[in-house]
Amino acid sequence: MKGRSKLGLLLLVLCLSLLPSGCIKQDRLYRESRVVMDTITTITVVSPSEEEALRAIDAGFNEIERLEHLLNYFSPESEISRINRSSGIRPVKVSRETIEIIKKAIEISEATGGAFNPAIGPVIRLWGFSRQDRAETIPSEEAIREALRLIDYRKIRINEEDSEVYLEVRGMELDLGGIAKGYAADRAIEVIKGMGIKAALVAVAGDIRGFGLRPNGQPWHIGIQDPRPPDDNPDSVFATLYLRDMAISTSGDYQRFFIKDGKRYHHIIDPKTGYPSESSIISASVIADRGFMTDGLSTAMFIFPPERAITLLESLGVDGVIVDINKRVYLTEGLEGKIKITNRAYRIR
Ligand code: AMP
Ligand code: MG
Repeated sequence: MKGRSKLGLLLLVLCLSLLPSGCIKQDRLYRESRVVMDTITTITVVSPSEEEALRAIDAGFNEIERLEHLLNYFSPESEISRINRSSGIRPVKVSRETIEIIKKAIEISEATGGAFNPAIGPVIRLWGFSRQDRAETIPSEEAIREALRLIDYRKIRINEEDSEVYLEVRGMELDLGGIAKGYAADRAIEVIKGMGIKAALVAVAGDIRGFGLRPNGQPWHIGIQDPRPPDDNPDSVFATLYLRDMAISTSGDYQRFFIKDGKRYHHIIDPKTGYPSESSIISASVIADRGFMTDGLSTAMFIFPPERAITLLESLGVDGVIVDINKRVYLTEGLEGKIKITNRAYRIR
């Protein structure tokens, strides 16, 4: 025993004399981007060990890919597709996790008076915004009217005991595209945390969740994408803020859209009309502790006028940054003084 502690002391002395490049390794940032969930995902990990960091990054990506297989609307094998194919025919047995995600989506629908609607599938399919080969045509009024009859999210029936989901009307389709990326960021963070990592940031496109501090002791520094960058540079930001153990999601009318006869048609649909929402919002960011919540809410905020979006977020106890077409920035009270506008074309109201 005595011999061991002497050896320990000797090692310690050796280490101290070798600092800073010796035994105690410094934390460093390790970062990798891959295309998953049909988008660019970046995972950043803080660790003293490259090997540990790369293992954690890999595990984070694997977790996101696993979820893609559950939730992808386009993959015929996904649990969501199996539920959709059996709409109006029979309940489908799915994993507990899929049930939990659908329940979370319905929670957000209820919190937003139906502005967020996970049963929006038939309308999204018509517009084709999620397809790479989309037609960029406006569906007929008749087709939209028909599709609107199939999007009542109260007709999603969940049987928890048997782990089954049933869409009551033939033709109904779930589309969790408005919540899946944020949920994936949540899960990737949980997996990375579980591996003993002390800080990480997962960004599934505009759905970002962070925990811990950077090696310099600061929280993660996040830029919010400029919805109208002067040079079309997708890396331009209009504002920055610090994120500590929280999630932030941004939805924008610049993410998937086409312009026809001078009018912009984007991918967030007002469930009341079946058309891209016509609120004056061009970018909506929500900050809360969970990514599924920020993802769902940022999509939903698009449907409201900016002031209403802010009061709704405040009533839900979360923060938000809303930008309107005139580049006016609306903030929840909790964010005042905590966000820096970096592009002077944008002004806080
Ligand atoms: P996000 O990029 O998170 O804002 O989500 C946009 C995606 O959510 C779209 O591509 C659709 O798949 C889906 N979506 C569009 N409108 C709605 C809506 N009103 N409620 C829920 N999901 C929607
Ligand atoms: Mg969303």
